[in-house]
Amino acid sequence: MLKENLKQVEGNILDACKASGRSREEVTLIAVSKTKPVGDLEEIYREGVRDFGENKVQELCQKYEVLPKDIRWHMIGHLQRNKVKYIIDKVALIHSVDSLRLAQQIQTEAEKANVHVDILVEVNVAGEESKFGVAWDEAEALIREIAQFNRVHIQGFMTIAPFVENSDENREIFQKLSQLYIDIKQKNIDNVNMRVLSMGMTGDYTAAVEEGATMVRVGTGIFGQRNYNR
Ligand SMILES: *Cc1c(COP(=O)(O)O)cnc(C)c1O
Repeated sequence: MLKENLKQVEGNILDACKASGRSREEVTLIAVSKTKPVGDLEEIYREGVRDFGENKVQELCQKYEVLPKDIRWHMIGHLQRNKVKYIIDKVALIHSVDSLRLAQQIQTEAEKANVHVDILVEVNVAGEESKFGVAWDEAEALIREIAQFNRVHIQGFMTIAPFVENSDENREIFQKLSQLYIDIKQKNIDNVNMRVLSMGMTGDYTAAVEEGATMVRVGTGIFGQRNYNR
């Protein structure tokens, strides 16, 4: 069942790559496994997926303990500063950095743990009040400040687009972030490496791929609906 879902998602990504003249290797599929039991992750792992996304620190740590160590864990949810220490040596990439204070905390904990941490700057492209993320026109200033930290390494951008019925409605948002990504890349800022554009979820990942996403975060499309009341 999950295997079939994954196949479907993989097929859609491949089609979107073809439609936009991109190679499939440019796009990493992150299986967003939040709320899902370890058995579900194992099933997808057996199909070859190694990138998993979680949005809660405690859940990520619990799954990290019991699942194979070659999994790349992606922290995709809002991160509280007092919880950075728990994931600092477990995550491959933190997608949700949207303030200097959070980046400072990551730097502090990275020093203590003697590690280097790759992060993305989360941008609230649509300017939705309910969403985290730095405002569009403040992104560059934040990047330049975070770039000063010698253990925090910006790898690109993440955005969570609005919920829409038709994924085409989010194309403009994806294009806007793609453009910022290219602009910042061209500025060659020290300690800023623009190689990841994390955008697109179950409702809109094909449009995101067509607009340049290098990581898509798909939960429901692989694991089915989430039940938060269990
Ligand atoms: C839950 C979540 C996803 C996946 O959402 P689906 O619509 O289930 O694919 C992607 N990104 C973030 C940040 C999330 O919290």
